[in-house]
Amino acid sequence: MSTHADISANIAAIQARIAAACQLYQRQSPPILMAVTKTRTATEISAAIQAGITDIGENYLQEALNKQAELANQALCWHFIGPIQTNKTRAIAHHFDWVHSVDRAKVITRLNDQRPTELAPLNICLQVNINDETSKAGVAAEEVAELAALVMSQPQLRLRGLMAIPANTDDSQQQRKNFAALRSIFTELQQNFPNAALDTLSMGMSADMESAIAEGASIVRIGSDIFGPRPTLKP
Ligand SMILES: *Cc1c(COP(=O)(O)O)cnc(C)c1O
Repeated sequence: MSTHADISANIAAIQARIAAACQLYQRQSPPILMAVTKTRTATEISAAIQAGITDIGENYLQEALNKQAELANQALCWHFIGPIQTNKTRAIAHHFDWVHSVDRAKVITRLNDQRPTELAPLNICLQVNINDETSKAGVAAEEVAELAALVMSQPQLRLRGLMAIPANTDDSQQQRKNFAALRSIFTELQQNFPNAALDTLSMGMSADMESAIAEGASIVRIGSDIFGPRPTLKP
C-alpha cells in the first residue's frame, strides 16, 4: 500500500505530466484528473483528496458504496467506470454523478427510470469498443449515434460524451491512432446533435495518458500512477 507521501508526490508528478502534455500539444484547458480507486482503501483515497483530487472512479459497485460511506463528509464527484449488470443500475443511479461505461439500451432506460428526480440528471458517456475486440465491453462505432439519441431522449440522463479503453499497446503512434478514432466519432456526434452538451472524451490511463491528451482527452482516468501497481485484480 502506498503511503500518504507517495500518493501526494505521485499526484504532483502526474499534474506536471499533464501540464507538459498540454503545452506540447497546445491544449488550452487541461483534462480533469480522475483518480481510479478500485482495490484502494478509503485511507489511500483520502490522501489523494488532500492532494487535490475531487473526481473518483470506481469499477465495482459494492466496493464503491463501502468507500462512499467512509468518505461521506467529502465533496466528491463519483464516476462509475466498470461493467454494468442490470441488477446494479438502481444503486448506480442513486449513488453516482457520472457513468462512463454505458453500452446498451436496457441500461440506458433503467438508469433514467431509476435516477431519483430530486438529483441532477446523471452524466453519461457511451463506452465505445474502439478496436472491435470481442473480449471487450462497449458499443461498435456504427451503433453510437442510435444509442446517443436514446440517451438524449431520457430526461434524467445527460449525454456528455464518449469513453474508450483501447487495445493495450506500448506504441504511442498506435495509442494516438486509437484515441483519434474515438475523437472522430465524437466530432461526428457533435455535428449530428448540435444542441447536445457534448463536452467529454474520457480517455487515457497511466500507460497512455499523454497520447490521450494529444488527441483531446477531457477526462483522464489514472490508477496505478497515483496509487502504485495493483497487487490483485478482482475477477
Ligand atoms: C483500472 C482502470 C483505469 C486506470 O488504469 P491504470 O492503468 O491503473 O491507470 C482506468 N479506466 C478504467 C475503466 C479502469 O478499469
